Amino acid sequence: MRVGIGYDVHRLTEGRKLILGGVEIPYEKGLLGHSDADVLIHAIMDALLGAAALGDIGKHFPDTDPAYEGISSMELLKRVGQLLEEHNYVIENIDATVIAQRPKLRPYMEEMEQNLCGALGIERNQLNLKATTEEGLGFTGSGEGMAAQAICMLMPLLDLADLDRMGGCGGCGGCGN
Ligand code: MG
Repeated sequence: MRVGIGYDVHRLTEGRKLILGGVEIPYEKGLLGHSDADVLIHAIMDALLGAAALGDIGKHFPDTDPAYEGISSMELLKRVGQLLEEHNYVIENIDATVIAQRPKLRPYMEEMEQNLCGALGIERNQLNLKATTEEGLGFTGSGEGMAAQAICMLMPLLDLADLDRMGGCGGCGGCGN
């Protein structure tokens, strides 16, 4: 088992769409960033990359690269899912919290969960999303920005050689035991 943690912050500003978990949420401001600034997905991607010891999203999708300008973070999340697969990891679970004073996010949680599970190919019971305010305190409380935290657990897939070294897999035939 491997754990990873992710944290991200984006500033709220006028003239931008507010996109969280791949859902466009009606609000007077949106998050500022090079991509669509989906702070929730960014925190989740960093948790996943961290658990796999694959660095962070800045390494894989640099904000100096025009290729990522305005890109949907859902697209980036799918790429992180592919990276995990290439490195033989499967997701056990993800837990994440969005920290925002406004707007109320509960009505959009279901759609966010569907989006994220779909992008990563995981079941609904492997993902938990939460939202909280910070009681009017700090930059999230004043509405200057939003933050998100995520934690995840990955399972490394054992290959047949590993199983062989461990004394066999119980007779599937693949490793000769
Ligand atoms: Mg970010």
